[in-house]
Amino acid sequence: MTPRILAHLDDTPDFYLDQVAQVVMDRWWRGRVGLLGDAAFSSSPMSGQGTGLALVGAYVLAGELAAAEWNPEIGFACYEARMRSFVEANQEIAQLNARSRDIPGSDAEPGPDFTGEWFAELVERAINGVELPNYAGLPDSGVLAGPLTASSAKP
Ligand SMILES: Cc1cc2nc3c(=O)[nH]c(=O)nc-3n(C[C@H](O)[C@H](O)[C@H](O)COP(=O)(O)OP(=O)(O)OC[C@H]3O[C@@H](n4cnc5c(N)ncnc54)[C@H](O)[C@@H]3O)c2cc1C
Repeated sequence: MTPRILAHLDDTPDFYLDQVAQVVMDRWWRGRVGLLGDAAFSSSPMSGQGTGLALVGAYVLAGELAAAEWNPEIGFACYEARMRSFVEANQEIAQLNARSRDIPGSDAEPGPDFTGEWFAELVERAINGVELPNYAGLPDSGVLAGPLTASSAKP
């Protein structure tokens, strides 16, 4: 297979090559800076959930900031607390998927046993493992921040 792929590299008009990697962070925020989506917790294409994680994360982040009356430290901490386990389940699935593709060797660890109850529980947590509160009615940031002043509008 490899020689056939290499033989076509120079001619193909749509060749795509990238690394498969995860972003695993100890924390997703510091001070007034918060991370979201791939920047905080890219799961990698090995799990296939990156878009969902980014969208759910955006919803929870906005909602928790509003619920915290736009106090960033409280909002970020609540966002991370709600999302962590959900994100970690998806990242674990990606790692298991990668491990299951290892080329077996004499010293290789045995591949994961996907028939166990633990795997069903992991998949359940990866799909439904985050509660999505109804944040309707909370004030948006503009209400509390008030109109932009000349000094606050500077970059
Ligand atoms: C090959 C591949 C296959 C995938 N398949 C799936 C799949 O089947 N299902 C799935 O759910 N997910 C899949 N994903 C993952 C999914 O694409 C990502 O998890 C998702 O796009 C993350 O969204 P995001 O908004 O965090 O980041 P992105 O979608 O990467 O958005 C970040 C944006 O920021 C822009 N940007 C970067 N730097 C700057 C800057 N300095 N200033 C301004 N803008 C900037 C970028 O141009 C980009 O538009 C796949 C990813 C890859 C690479």
